[in-house]
Amino acid sequence: LKDYMIRAISLDGSIRVVAARTTDIVSIAREVHNLSNTATAALGRLLTAGLLVSTGMKGDDTLTLRVNGGGPLGNLIVDADADGHIRGYVSHPEVELPLKNGKLDVGGAVGSEGQMYLTKDLGLKEPYTGSARLISGEIAEDMTYFLWQSEQIRSATTLGVLVGKEGVLAAGGLLLQLLPGYDEGLVDNIEANFADLSDISRIIETGVGPEELVARALAGIDYRIIDEKEVSFTCRCSKDKVAAALILLEDEELLEMMGDERTVAKCHFCGEEYVFTREDLREFIKNKKAL
Ligand SMILES: [Zn+2]
Repeated sequence: LKDYMIRAISLDGSIRVVAARTTDIVSIAREVHNLSNTATAALGRLLTAGLLVSTGMKGDDTLTLRVNGGGPLGNLIVDADADGHIRGYVSHPEVELPLKNGKLDVGGAVGSEGQMYLTKDLGLKEPYTGSARLISGEIAEDMTYFLWQSEQIRSATTLGVLVGKEGVLAAGGLLLQLLPGYDEGLVDNIEANFADLSDISRIIETGVGPEELVARALAGIDYRIIDEKEVSFTCRCSKDKVAAALILLEDEELLEMMGDERTVAKCHFCGEEYVFTREDLREFIKNKKAL
């Protein structure tokens, strides 16, 4: 069972829903960053949210979703492309907090004194950036508030990550957006449907997939599926890209690095290590002179 997401729209065109299963993505994030349980839930929710808002991107479009709530986890950053690839990291992956009401304390670990930022690079001159203050640091309601503040879209978001002794048991989320002209009479119906989806990770753990999540969110409303897309934790880093960043450093910094036999540059997003020799660095300095 691979991770994927599904988009659907009500037949009258006024309600958009996207649902994703992200169990494998969150598992891999936990592994590559050695995430604590609380960090797994926090970054897992943000990874899922990043995918849910990435629909509609094309070609080389990318999106970055960042949260800094002043809590012990520090910054959380995720980055998605148009092909369903997402990656992300957190400043302090080891932070663990005591359970709060029997649940992982994501809000306490993220903090709520800060902002959520969304940057979309759609290949235009300037990337689009929106931001909104955090409501709770729990991510889902922060996303709902963000969409209202920055795009005046009325929406509902549910995100969940279930962590057990063996690791990530289930993860996923659903985002429902009401477009201009929606039928006010359907709002009670949708709210009742949403109440049943509040514990979404437990629902996904029982084997419920994105189609069924959409069906439950839109129970009583006619809709059609727009598309289905496989999603995965995939990093776009490469040795060439890291080299391109190193070549921008000052000569002095490169010379200092040459004091070591080998320089290891680690990708923040996926932990991949790229090794450069003294000779590589010498080449960088030479190439810079040639520029
Ligand atoms: Zn990477």
